[in-house]
Amino acid sequence: MQIILFGAPGVGKGTQAKILSQKFNIKHISTGDILRDSVARKTELGLAAKEVMNRGDLVSDSLMGGLVKETLENMDYKNGFILDGFPRTIEQCNIMDSIFEELSITNPFFIILEADSNIIVSRLTQRRFCNKCETIVNLNDIPDVNTCPNCGAVNSFIERKDDNIEVVKKRLNIYQETTLPVVDYYKKKYKVAILNGTDPVERVTENIINELVTV
Ligand code: AMP
Repeated sequence: MQIILFGAPGVGKGTQAKILSQKFNIKHISTGDILRDSVARKTELGLAAKEVMNRGDLVSDSLMGGLVKETLENMDYKNGFILDGFPRTIEQCNIMDSIFEELSITNPFFIILEADSNIIVSRLTQRRFCNKCETIVNLNDIPDVNTCPNCGAVNSFIERKDDNIEVVKKRLNIYQETTLPVVDYYKKKYKVAILNGTDPVERVTENIINELVTV
């Protein structure tokens, strides 16, 4: 099972990818997570990407292509994988096509999650990470905005630098202008399903699974 999970920042790709990767025992490849890990470890890639990410811009296509190729080449994905956050430009589509050809990956399923931009802005600006247990929460959805509902830690929430309102607006503009054209590109090549990302998490998962089993 090879899945490309596509959609605007904050639409729920990461949440769904984690659930699906556990459910089907397939690898979750999040380019954003890999980059953030590289930034934290201060690797060459991390140093190159840090400021670009904080500004809400896209990291260069060549760096991203190299990262995805290396990740796939070094990964046992015989059960499949779920790609979250790549491709984000038409050039990345070209790069992905050649990586897939080289690795004989022939039949990926393309799932698009959609959401209204007002909902996305609200989700992202209220999103926090617990620095103790790494749970992602939305401040609107938890009873106490100072306490992690998962591990009980107090004042442990941190905000991603690129989740502040100005950067969020920029990321959404880039999504509209640069990333969305990827959809038309893939509609011509692969099976594509478009689903509502604002349904409850369990419903979105169910809808994705329904799409996957009907192919
Ligand atoms: P994400 O967690 O997917 O929202 O990604 C966080 C940030 O990482 C993005 O705003 C970009 O700066 C960078 N990034 C992640 N994936 C890509 C990609 N495929 N192309 C370019 N930049 C990316």
